[in-house]
Amino acid sequence: MLTPDAAARLGGPELRIDLDAVAANCRLLAERVSGDLMAVVKADGFGHGAATVARTALASGAGWLGVTSLVEALDLRAAGLTAPVLSWLNPVGADFAAAVRAGVDLAVPSPAHLAAVAGGAQRSGWGAARVHLHLDTGLARDGAAPEEWGALCRAARAAEREGTVQVVGVMGHLALADLGGPGANAAGRAAFDRGLQVARSAGLRPAHRHLAATAATLGDPATHHTMVRVGAGLFGIDPSGSTRLRPTLTLTAPVVSVRRVAAGTGVGYGHHWVTPRATTLALVPVGYADGLPRTATDHAEVLLGGRRRPVVGRISMDQVVVDLGPCSPVVAGDVATVVGAGDDGAPTAAEWARWAHTLEHEIVTGLCSAPPRVRRCVSTGSSWGTR
Ligand SMILES: *Cc1c(COP(=O)(O)O)cnc(C)c1O
Repeated sequence: MLTPDAAARLGGPELRIDLDAVAANCRLLAERVSGDLMAVVKADGFGHGAATVARTALASGAGWLGVTSLVEALDLRAAGLTAPVLSWLNPVGADFAAAVRAGVDLAVPSPAHLAAVAGGAQRSGWGAARVHLHLDTGLARDGAAPEEWGALCRAARAAEREGTVQVVGVMGHLALADLGGPGANAAGRAAFDRGLQVARSAGLRPAHRHLAATAATLGDPATHHTMVRVGAGLFGIDPSGSTRLRPTLTLTAPVVSVRRVAAGTGVGYGHHWVTPRATTLALVPVGYADGLPRTATDHAEVLLGGRRRPVVGRISMDQVVVDLGPCSPVVAGDVATVVGAGDDGAPTAAEWARWAHTLEHEIVTGLCSAPPRVRRCVSTGSSWGTR
């Protein structure tokens, strides 16, 4: 492997991750709630680096960390993070004893999970497992179905008496996560309230009650309870579009070549686009392997030579062609901004999502999964480090 410095000298595309933006987004979200804020750093912090994002969020108003799998939770512990961590999506055969030893809170969506977690706690020799009972509040996905909820709560109370678990939380998740408004969430809110009642009458006293993700955190205070779990918002994404957050990613690439072509020239695979007039084409070395959705073909644009220019022909694995028009000042080596914060006219991840008929989350995580030829720079304060 090349050292980061050596790779940097070779040139090529660059993905900048702006941790100041993550911090600003986290502070904004934390100011909207009176209770706790859990920073959801699943999927390697939406690709930004789970431990790095976790540290940034904890310094910017978050008190908790949330991930799906135990692997992700133990990775955070291995990185030295000691804040409360909740892991909510594990098979019954997961190593819950290791979770208890690492001080990781576990979501429990079924009686089978409860038994497995209690068994893990006994094997660990470390005392009760800290659990958050997970109620399905309308997704028919993760969490206990409402008709199983009462039995789960009673079994959890019995396990508390035996000393194998301690129910510290109850969680739900809203189905209409892209609609933050109170109307959209009424059914989910009511299901959660009923679930809390049932838990109380089973004798449980969970200190942490959490339902809202980013959209509801920003748009529906009645969902906040004692804690909110925010992922997308940390990375500049407000699924409900109610609040301006700061985009965290910038993808740039230097133009490899510029060429004049005649009218009627087929461009790229399948000659999907044919020049309607004599024009100039620029080759930019990023493509779908770098997270640009191929389905944005015919719609995508980049910022190059001071203005937006269309991407023409099919998006390839590691290159795109940009139409510069008949006369353009762009020369090889000029830098195209393929994705940016939008303040300088560069296309945003939200625009790429629109062009590809997908959601911004997929663009953001896709860009962050780019192969090593895309140099990654992570801001630390006002400076940039390469990795
Ligand atoms: C991903 C996830 C979140 C965070 O949702 P965002 O919309 O990204 O803020 C919260 N809770 C659960 C259960 C999740 O899976």
